[in-house]
Amino acid sequence: MLSEDTIRPLQRVAITTLGCKLNYAESAALHARFVERGFTVVAEDVAADVIVVNTCTVTDAADAECRKIVRRHLRTSPDAIVAVTGCFAQLQPESIASIDGVRGVFGTAEKLSLPDRIAELQTAASPRIYVRETSDMMDFAEARSVESDGRTRAFVKVQDGCDYNCSFCTIPLARGGSRAMPFEALCRELDRLDAERFREVILTGVNLGEFKASSGERFVDVLRYIASRERSYRVRVSSIEPNTISDEIIDVVSTNSVFCPHVHTPLQSGSPDVLRRMRRRYTTERYRDRIMRLHDRVPGLAIGIDVIVGFPGETQDHFEETVSFLASLPWTYLHVFTYSERPNTPAATYPDAVPMSVRRARTARLRAMSDERRLAHARRSAGDVREVVTESYDADRQRWIGWTDNYVRVAVDLPFATGRSAVRVRLGDVIDDTTVGMVDGFVIAP
Ligand code: SF4
Repeated sequence: MLSEDTIRPLQRVAITTLGCKLNYAESAALHARFVERGFTVVAEDVAADVIVVNTCTVTDAADAECRKIVRRHLRTSPDAIVAVTGCFAQLQPESIASIDGVRGVFGTAEKLSLPDRIAELQTAASPRIYVRETSDMMDFAEARSVESDGRTRAFVKVQDGCDYNCSFCTIPLARGGSRAMPFEALCRELDRLDAERFREVILTGVNLGEFKASSGERFVDVLRYIASRERSYRVRVSSIEPNTISDEIIDVVSTNSVFCPHVHTPLQSGSPDVLRRMRRRYTTERYRDRIMRLHDRVPGLAIGIDVIVGFPGETQDHFEETVSFLASLPWTYLHVFTYSERPNTPAATYPDAVPMSVRRARTARLRAMSDERRLAHARRSAGDVREVVTESYDADRQRWIGWTDNYVRVAVDLPFATGRSAVRVRLGDVIDDTTVGMVDGFVIAP
């Protein structure tokens, strides 16, 4: 064990984030907490004193990926203190603690306490594990993400956990039951982002449509509060379960321009039989009804859909049902996941596993469908005038990349020094894959 006088001052922390927008929001909260404690947050490829890996279980090979990332960091920073957190850390703490170089493992409930425990890791003789049972996770850890070099985008985590029991999913095991940010605190946060002139707010959660504040408000009340006055920002809903898209929600988002014309909602399968075995809470008829109602009410709506292929027992006929169901809907892009068995889920024990080569071929077929639709969406946008909020800088081509409200990826010809910004642009032609060029435009907010 290190004695007090051998403890070196720690200054730089590098954070690697895997997985969903919720994880990114929580990493941003970690970032802010480290900064409050005097750390400098550095890029992942820069030598650091502390390394944090915020994991996910959705990736096929979470374990291998985590080991690879830790090894990569330790090549740059051999003496760094490595702490691993997130859903995978919650589910497999012992396995992570056994990775060479890992000094601390933090479950999902302990994630935000990580910056306060670095000193304990520094002096511990062996890896420390801080993981609580998910049944104890009743509290709501707030997290939001603010771009550090420009007040343009904020992710606001409004809900966490899930009470559903989809047969393939480990998220309820990793994040516990559904809980919501207190409504008053959420309203204050939304107003503060407005006062600070943010340009885009992304509402995130595991199962947003199940938002239920202790004071009784539901997700539609959050949307109504946002729409109750003019905002400096536009609002994007990261993803919402189709069975929770009520007529009231459709009414609010379709009649208030603060909401981006963009919805992302999981289908998972277009086969009624597979959907039942996945224990999803809707039928294909209900899914179609929700999508068509939104499509009819919101002009130019971009629709994103999650699909899982290769679920146990998914025959070629089931898969073809999914293909033709998708072909009949007006969506814009797909996120296609190749099914992989997750420990401790019912589906992992189901018979008739689909061979991996078949799963991969089905994935490729749906991704090709998705590429075609995404391209068509981008081409249709030529000539539109829209606000783009930039996200990342493409140093090779010296341009910013951002998204319109209706989810067209746009290359914006602005120098790096402009920083992240909101830009009103006229969209040009597709310039590579599905990125649209800018014809002309002006910066609204740097
Ligand atoms: S709705 Fe289903 S898939 Fe989504 S987090 Fe809950 S259990 Fe998992």
